[in-house]
Amino acid sequence: MHYLEVAVPVPLRKTFHYTHSEPVAAGCRVEVRFANRTLVGMVVGQASQTDIDPHLTSKIQAIQQVLDDQPVMTPIWLSWLGWLTQYYHHPIGEVAHAMLPAGLRKANNSRFSKPPSIVLREDLRVCSAEQFATHVDVMSLRKRAKKQHTALTEVFAAQQQAKVLSIGTANKTLGSAAVKGLLEKGLLQQVTTDIAPLCWHRQYLAQTPCHLTPNVEQALAISSLSVQLDTHFVALLEGITGSGKTEVYLQVIAEVLAAGKQVLILVPEIGLTPQTVARFAQRFGIEVGVLHSGLNDNERLLVWHQARHHEIGLVIGTRSAIFTPFANLGLIIIDEEHDDSFKQQDGLRYHARDVAIVLAQRLTIPIILGTATPSLETLYNAKQGKFQHFQLQQRAGGAVKAEQVLINTCQQNMQYGMSDEAIGILKTHLEQGNQVLVFMNRRGYAPAVVCQTCGEVHLCQACDKAYTYHQYNHSVLCHQCLDKQPMPNACKTCGGQDLLTAGSGTEQLKHGLQALFPQYQTVRIDSDSMRGKQKLAQTLDAINAREYHILVGTQILAKGHHFAHVTCVLILDVDSALYSGDFRAPEKLAQLVTQIGGRAGRASKPGSMYLQTAQPGHPLLQDLVNNGYQHFAEFALHERRAVGLPPYAFQAVLRAEDPDVRKCLALLQYGSGLVSHMQYLQVLGPLPCTVEKRQNRYRYCLVLQATKRTFLQKVLTAFIPEIETRANQLRIRWSIDVDNIDFS
Ligand code: ADP
Ligand code: ZN
Repeated sequence: MHYLEVAVPVPLRKTFHYTHSEPVAAGCRVEVRFANRTLVGMVVGQASQTDIDPHLTSKIQAIQQVLDDQPVMTPIWLSWLGWLTQYYHHPIGEVAHAMLPAGLRKANNSRFSKPPSIVLREDLRVCSAEQFATHVDVMSLRKRAKKQHTALTEVFAAQQQAKVLSIGTANKTLGSAAVKGLLEKGLLQQVTTDIAPLCWHRQYLAQTPCHLTPNVEQALAISSLSVQLDTHFVALLEGITGSGKTEVYLQVIAEVLAAGKQVLILVPEIGLTPQTVARFAQRFGIEVGVLHSGLNDNERLLVWHQARHHEIGLVIGTRSAIFTPFANLGLIIIDEEHDDSFKQQDGLRYHARDVAIVLAQRLTIPIILGTATPSLETLYNAKQGKFQHFQLQQRAGGAVKAEQVLINTCQQNMQYGMSDEAIGILKTHLEQGNQVLVFMNRRGYAPAVVCQTCGEVHLCQACDKAYTYHQYNHSVLCHQCLDKQPMPNACKTCGGQDLLTAGSGTEQLKHGLQALFPQYQTVRIDSDSMRGKQKLAQTLDAINAREYHILVGTQILAKGHHFAHVTCVLILDVDSALYSGDFRAPEKLAQLVTQIGGRAGRASKPGSMYLQTAQPGHPLLQDLVNNGYQHFAEFALHERRAVGLPPYAFQAVLRAEDPDVRKCLALLQYGSGLVSHMQYLQVLGPLPCTVEKRQNRYRYCLVLQATKRTFLQKVLTAFIPEIETRANQLRIRWSIDVDNIDFS
């Protein structure tokens, strides 16, 4: 009898013992019974009989079945799992699940075997292009079944490029009816045998990637990075937008691929467009695995398998792609490392950048963090010498930096939220035949609906928050819980029928700009107008083809896209960030403004950026506009040090959520009582979270802060079990958030 230590996906901070007749390797999944349910657990170790209480041995259950013949998690990934569990103080079984693709989390689902691929019938596989085209079966297909002929030709083309099509991909791209027909005719066959690992490497070596000639700054970064690729280091590549960071990535990646090692590139949620992927695929001429939240379980699993079996060399993905278990990872790149979408905001609240650094350390491989606007945490580490620091200060290809100007709204005539001065500036740029970009970080038509009789604001009862009016479907939406209602005809409180909207969002702004500039084409880009996979990519293409003159949108516009014909960027409504209670708000604002400003202009058409504000004298705005992000960041770091905030301290937030606000306070006051007397620990709260109520639950938090990370960790290790016990007594929902990025 063998005793196994199994991480079971339940919210308990420990592993469980099970038995099996044979040994099971750590990293294999097993099906187990737990509290009358069947769950998929992960074997994390073997237990010897001495580990187990002799009174309990008879009670230990046998596992139901072993799900994997070979471990899905390698030893390094397993030890990383242990680290994640400890560092984020999260239940180990849930951590293991968070690391697995959804397709491997369910008991009824496949074993850890690859989905079948499709290949041509054997004699067709060895044909030349000409032989294939003139093959008697192919000719007859062309006459009698056009769609099948097209599909078969595509499979042949893919084979010529050493690409293997999974049955799922084939069904999707070639049409499932055609694939079925070809399988029935025997012209295609399903195979489950693995393709040779490292196939991509031979293909890569057979081509010569054609690089741009780097400028001096790029060359310096590329050579310094390339010379140390077989060691571990963290490098910050700080380069203004358009300075050619991507070109640096590409040339360093080329070295790693040439050595037969794999590369992972993490990008922010919104930054992952088909254009981004195409840029990498074109340069290297090999298949690029893509991982993002829009994939279904099978698509995700396929990339996962390919990476694990060394069948692809390059993967680009968003946050959770960091958990892909590569066969031989040689480099990690985090693009736009300052982006908040790298932080998971529920469940295992990891920061993909931070956990990537730990993984790189364990694998002894390099990691590059690239951005125009480094987070203060990263900048601090670079200044401390923990990270290497490379700077690209010139725009590649000779484009000049945008000039930046503040527009004062005080005592100005305003239309649609824009001052006459701002409107005049837009007009000038449009008349010169250029595009303009107007940014506002608020979706919808108006952020509130107000009764003109009694003054009541129409609130989402579950969140105590004003509904946003959306004109395109004449409805109101709570932007917090996403509750959607028809626009009311009368006030809920007094019955008055005179309801008006207050304030404006992107939808209204677009109407306003259309009214002001009817002769120009306006397009709105936000998560409402850009639903659907292809919509954003198509719109971006249309913008670059100059089908639109005026671009209105939210922060989607700030990420990764470059608009060569935009010469004027107008940023509205930044003032609320100047007075936010969150100490990170100025940093986030500075990053946003700098990122948007960087979207515009090129060599022949330099861009200008205008920031409309009622506070033109505000020191932050002055510093940003006159001296740029780098200068601002230095200043902000001094400020943080003076008041002892991160990165000069480390924080964790304990959150409590309940319909009964007294229960929230009871748990947090209990927590505060445990630690508030401790030296070297600062405790703040209980405080309401930034989102004070959501879906009928009040939300409160307690902030723990210490100047030493290890000390904070020790405190948490003792603190969490007490909180857990108390929370179970109170029956209240709670969570711990280590290195929180906000207080929402
Ligand atoms: P970033 O990632 O820093 O915003 P990119 O890598 O996208 O910048 O580069 C911006 C533009 O400059 C791209 O069109 C790119 O092709 C071009 N570029 C980059 N490096 C060079 C170079 N060394 N010579 C000429 N053009 C370059
Ligand atoms: Zn709501």
